[in-house]
Amino acid sequence: MITRIKINLLNFTATIITDYVYSLHIHAGAFMKKIFSVFLILLLSSITFSQILDEQYFKDNHEVYFKFTITDRTELNTLTRIISIDNLEGNIVYAYANETEFREFEKLNYTYTVLTHPGKLIQPEMSSDVKGISAWDVYPTYDAYIAMMYQFQSTYPNLCRIVDGGNSIQGRKILFAVISDNVTQHETEPQFMYTSSIHGDEITGYVLMLRLIDSLLTTYGTDSRITQLVNNAEIWINPLANPDGTYRSGNSTVYGATRGNYNNYDLNRNFPDPIYGVYPDQQIETGRFRAIAEANNFALVANFHGGTEVVNYAWDTWTNEYPDYKHHPDEAWYQYISHLYADTCQANAPSNYMTGYDDGITNGGAWYIINGGRQDYTNYYRWGREVTIEISDTKLIPAAQLPAHWNYNRKSFIKYMEAVLKGVNGVVTDTLGNPVKAKITVLNHDVDNSEVYSDSTGFYLRMLAPGTYSLKFEAPDYYTQTINNVVVGSYNSQTVLNVELVSTIIPVELVSFTSSVNDNNVTLNWMTATETNNMGFQIERGKTKDARREEWDIIGFINGKGTTTETQTYSFSDENLDAGNYQYRLKQMDFDGSYSYSNIIEAEIVSPNKFILEQNYPNPFNPSTIIKYSIPNVISTEGRNLNVILKVYDIIGNEVATLVNEVQSSGNYEVEFNAENLSSGIYFYELKTGSLILTKKMILLQ
Ligand SMILES: [Zn+2]
Repeated sequence: MITRIKINLLNFTATIITDYVYSLHIHAGAFMKKIFSVFLILLLSSITFSQILDEQYFKDNHEVYFKFTITDRTELNTLTRIISIDNLEGNIVYAYANETEFREFEKLNYTYTVLTHPGKLIQPEMSSDVKGISAWDVYPTYDAYIAMMYQFQSTYPNLCRIVDGGNSIQGRKILFAVISDNVTQHETEPQFMYTSSIHGDEITGYVLMLRLIDSLLTTYGTDSRITQLVNNAEIWINPLANPDGTYRSGNSTVYGATRGNYNNYDLNRNFPDPIYGVYPDQQIETGRFRAIAEANNFALVANFHGGTEVVNYAWDTWTNEYPDYKHHPDEAWYQYISHLYADTCQANAPSNYMTGYDDGITNGGAWYIINGGRQDYTNYYRWGREVTIEISDTKLIPAAQLPAHWNYNRKSFIKYMEAVLKGVNGVVTDTLGNPVKAKITVLNHDVDNSEVYSDSTGFYLRMLAPGTYSLKFEAPDYYTQTINNVVVGSYNSQTVLNVELVSTIIPVELVSFTSSVNDNNVTLNWMTATETNNMGFQIERGKTKDARREEWDIIGFINGKGTTTETQTYSFSDENLDAGNYQYRLKQMDFDGSYSYSNIIEAEIVSPNKFILEQNYPNPFNPSTIIKYSIPNVISTEGRNLNVILKVYDIIGNEVATLVNEVQSSGNYEVEFNAENLSSGIYFYELKTGSLILTKKMILLQ
């Protein structure tokens, strides 16, 4: 091991020399290099030469790290659109640039100092096997990283699955470890994400994220806070967002890691920006990340960087400072969550860790404005909450310092994640309990896309500072609902607010509408699965018996059940109809006056072809019985309709009742005979129309 370090140190020296030789354009032999080496190592990091950054320099180094001085902060507004500002100390700007960017910068005629690239300040200790990484005091080779990620999944298949977000430009994988109970399904839970090292040379967070995944998986079930978190949230961890930058020198080392991707683009200036929109030259890695972000609904995100120690909150594209300020409406909440992280670090680290800026936190734009950053993309375009966390002053720290940084940040990692279990949350559904993707706006509060949305399960989370709020829930094709007096007691409280939205399209869902014919009667039956604001149903029958349906008669009204999610059944009888075809429809009417028609159904009253007098029922009877008969569609001199007489006689032929004596059309009829004033015995009933006569016997048993 010692031997390897010594060799590495030699390599390191040689590399530095090589870099500067190219930079200086001194085409010296090996002898000259040796002479220069002592001199150069003494200088180490700052050498001023403004004219030697030629094409070859960028071929060798991909990007340049440099510093220069500004006289006024307003100069940054132009600079941030040209180069990638990394840090600001007073009036000293630290920045990166690829060749194109640097040529633009040169036109501004600043005097600059080229600095040793942060990815080349040390020879980091590497390990190429998963076991070797597991002490967490060494950087993994690319292959060891990939192996470790998939080992998490194979060791904990119920808790962890690896999502392959796709390849980088050079074909390296952008992986996400998803950790949750029931990890194979998306439950009604908040989605959370940690992602690290979008700047390929800022890699403290890379190893710490791997260790965090391991820690969550190994302590689940024994540590109650971790168990609670994993059970109730869906945690996504992306340890390495820019693998081509980190492994710029090859898969076996992170030495020579670059900020940019393979095309030397700063990916953290490449995302859709609230002011400038989609970046015109969007990189593959940016697209990969966006695809994951846009297929999910991450409520809370943090991205890890290095180079300083601070928690940076929204906005990055606007400052919250006078005179051109724009506050995020949730600035108080952002400051709370940022302090939660930074203060917890301060409590678990040496006294100078994460104490700069405003006690360890800063507004992004107040530090320096950037455009195209990942943080504002999440905050503005994905309605999530994302902060940028810088966790080590040195971008590429010696591997031996990684465990200490784990100790500084471990509790902060957990506390920040636990914030997704707080705030106002719930499920938005329709009246049948199906999830609804709704927009949730805090009235008199939300601006600049600060509202949130529910996800595919209907789950939403709105993290808020303590207070009393009115929340508006809206979705296309649903009535908007506003819930007042939603109380957030403290930053630590959870307010559950489930909301049922009522559809404007199908206020009453008719699941069936059928007819049945019994003699001359049509019975309509229909059923609803759900009703909203339902006054009732007007029953309409086609005026004509043919298929023309322009005119309808209103033949009845059945009251609805108002609003219900219970199944309801309804029935209506249209009685004593002539033979023929009938069309029916329902006009469903809401209390607010709106209405909608059902489909049209048909019913046929069949014309009898025989003159029939049926046996009465019941028989024997006491005191009443039903007599049914059919009048056929006969043609007679009297026309289609004939006088129909139905009379009852006793056994010796005395007429005791006339049940029918009227003109009746063809059809099926029934009549009730009540014999309560008659004595027991045998009676006859006789049906007579035209020349036809039918007689049947019945028995009254008093
Ligand atoms: Zn960074």
